[in-house]
Amino acid sequence: MSGTTLSPERERIDLPVTGMTCAACAARIERSLSAADGVEEASVNLATERATVRFDPAVTGVDRIVEAIRRAGYDAIIPPPGGATVSGDDPATRARQEEYVRLRRKFQIAVLLAFPVLASAMSHGSIPVLNFRGVGWLEFALTTPVVFYCGAQFYRGAWAALRHRAADMNTLIALGTGAAYVYSVAALVVPSFFASSPMMVMSGGGPMGPTLYFEAAAVIIALILAGRMLEARAKGRTSEAIRRLIGLQAKTATIVRDGSEAEVAIDAVVPGDVLVVRPGALIPVDGTVLDGDSTIDESMLTGESLPVEKQPGDAVFGGTLNRTGSFRFEAKRVGRDTVLARIVEMVERAQGSKAPIARLADVVSGIFTPIVLCIAITTFAIWFVAAPPETRLSLALVNFVSVLIIACPCALGLATPTAIMVGTGVGAENGILVRNGESLETAHKLNTMVLDKTGTITRGQPAVTEIVALRGSENEIIAVAAAAEAGSEHPIATAIARAAKDRGLVVARPTGFEALPGQGVNATVQGMRVVIGNEAVMREAGIPLDSVESQMARISERGGTAIAVAIDGVLAGVIGVADEPRPESKAAIAAMHRMGLDVVMLTGDNQRTAEAIAKDVGVSRVIAGVLPADKAAEVKRLQDGGALVGMVGDGINDAPALAQADVGIALGSGTDVAIESSDITLLKGDLRRVVTTLLLSRATIGTVKQNLFWAFVYNVIGIPIAAGALYPVTGWLLSPVIASAAMSLSSVSVLANSLRLRNFRAPQVLT
Ligand code: ADP
Ligand code: MG
Repeated sequence: MSGTTLSPERERIDLPVTGMTCAACAARIERSLSAADGVEEASVNLATERATVRFDPAVTGVDRIVEAIRRAGYDAIIPPPGGATVSGDDPATRARQEEYVRLRRKFQIAVLLAFPVLASAMSHGSIPVLNFRGVGWLEFALTTPVVFYCGAQFYRGAWAALRHRAADMNTLIALGTGAAYVYSVAALVVPSFFASSPMMVMSGGGPMGPTLYFEAAAVIIALILAGRMLEARAKGRTSEAIRRLIGLQAKTATIVRDGSEAEVAIDAVVPGDVLVVRPGALIPVDGTVLDGDSTIDESMLTGESLPVEKQPGDAVFGGTLNRTGSFRFEAKRVGRDTVLARIVEMVERAQGSKAPIARLADVVSGIFTPIVLCIAITTFAIWFVAAPPETRLSLALVNFVSVLIIACPCALGLATPTAIMVGTGVGAENGILVRNGESLETAHKLNTMVLDKTGTITRGQPAVTEIVALRGSENEIIAVAAAAEAGSEHPIATAIARAAKDRGLVVARPTGFEALPGQGVNATVQGMRVVIGNEAVMREAGIPLDSVESQMARISERGGTAIAVAIDGVLAGVIGVADEPRPESKAAIAAMHRMGLDVVMLTGDNQRTAEAIAKDVGVSRVIAGVLPADKAAEVKRLQDGGALVGMVGDGINDAPALAQADVGIALGSGTDVAIESSDITLLKGDLRRVVTTLLLSRATIGTVKQNLFWAFVYNVIGIPIAAGALYPVTGWLLSPVIASAAMSLSSVSVLANSLRLRNFRAPQVLT
């Protein structure tokens, strides 16, 4: 599955959204956006607090989209013109920090005021200073600002929801705390109307009047604010990985103009500028080394810890660290075009995407609130009818409030997106770029892994190992072959060119050239018709290979590729080209087998060569002789047989097969990030990273499942207890205060569990 390509008349925008508290909020904004004119697709992510909207710019614009978000009762931050660049202090991060500070202030005030109320309520008159007749009024005075100032956002949110005839978490909190508060005020003002009872199950006002529940209202608000505050901070930490990536960006660059050096801001660098890099400095942008040499730490991009040596002509990347030498390089890609900026963009997009597993939580939290309201009202009714007259109102109220408070589905909404965010972030830090949550989720379910041979299992840098000359000398064969291959970008062509160069041969310029993908080439060299390629090409050209059969077989059996060279319709020689397996391939394939994967080698090379390599690296199943265009069909065949197929390839000529696979994994070489054609891009071409990716996927989805489990468990166990289901048996009721603590704890524990994923490490055996 490749990413959707946008048709040219569609635009996509990512807007930071403020004010969301649960999955129901996200769903409500999504509905409002989808209903707006010109909006094709809208997805709102609770964890990243972003709305991603695909729209038709001819019909609508950013302003109207923001309006739709406001209509739903939330707000959006309009991005500065020019769109997102790689910068640390974006408006969304700042908004989140401000929100955290605001929550903390309200929380502190709520704690300060709620504590004496709680003490008074719990003491039952045993604290002398709180044992006076009008203590209820003191509680009232302390609780009122907690409700109306600290808790204002819950009531505002509930009101916004109500106006849309919806109910969400805010509704539950507002109703719960509001009911406790209003009841207490009424009982304080007209005590005669409410019977006093010394037999209260819940703590309360004691013998001096009816039980008051000010402390429930105050403490619930304080605890929920505490939960929100921790949530805000933890959410910030889930995107730490991306901030670290952004932090790699150099602020300035040293530019060479007219022979003198000048320090300029990074934004001032344009392609073509010549830049100087000193030891210990960050490379500012992407480019090509002009002179000097050095070793560069590229681990931040590729996850590879060994420094890479660079010489003139080599590519360097912005954000990597120059270690030893000084060099000058020409800027090639700057700003949003650099590999680093594209990685950041991709990770951001992946973190904002939804995994299919999130749908369950979305559906549940969508219908959850109305159901909970029904349960709460039923609870109230049953207690009101069944309890003894002198306690029935307070028991009904207490249980009503507890049910509302414990049932808040915020943990449910956080379960999936927070884990996906941390998982994709950890991936990025290990050189594993995941396109979206769906890819990350599917990866751990794969049961078949198809590996391309050349460049995937092998190094992709074949060398000429053997020359069989039937006509002319070895050098003549190589020179003609190199000339004919000059127009080809195939690794075999590169190998032959290198052999010609090593032998100091003069290579003629071909006059005609035709590539036969997956087979060979056809060219005219100095008036000679040259055909180079595999057995299929020769068969087609009617050139018998009988005379060289034993030589070709020998080359293949050693894992080499035998290429026949024909000149003017006559076989002239055979060139043996061998590509060594990467040293880590064998261990990686063994690990895949241990994970229960069916590993398949898919190659255009002939059966014998493929089998020799396969035996070497431990692959038991080989599909050989497949033309590049047919590789996708082979993947499809495996899928039709019921397999869930991952395909690993070099991302360039394997693109259709990568797209066909359930998860296409492109091995990048660092230089060209084949982000577009694959679901997952490994920045370093190392098959062990495929195993790491699968393990990361497994760990992430495992975390999601734990999160969902805990979020559900809290509600499944909490709601009946809060409703008083255990009261007839054990006499237990759940105090609203405990209910709010449990509710906050469930969100915080889900977040903490997601953050644990940050400790994910590839197993030792693989590194
Ligand atoms: P792979 O699946 O291993 O990446 P390809 O599909 O690129 O291999 O190529 C399949 C086979 O076609 C090669 O093993 C080789 O025999 C032949 N071939 C492809 N391109 C060339 C070329 N430029 N010159 C000679 N032979 C070629
Ligand atoms: Mg290939």
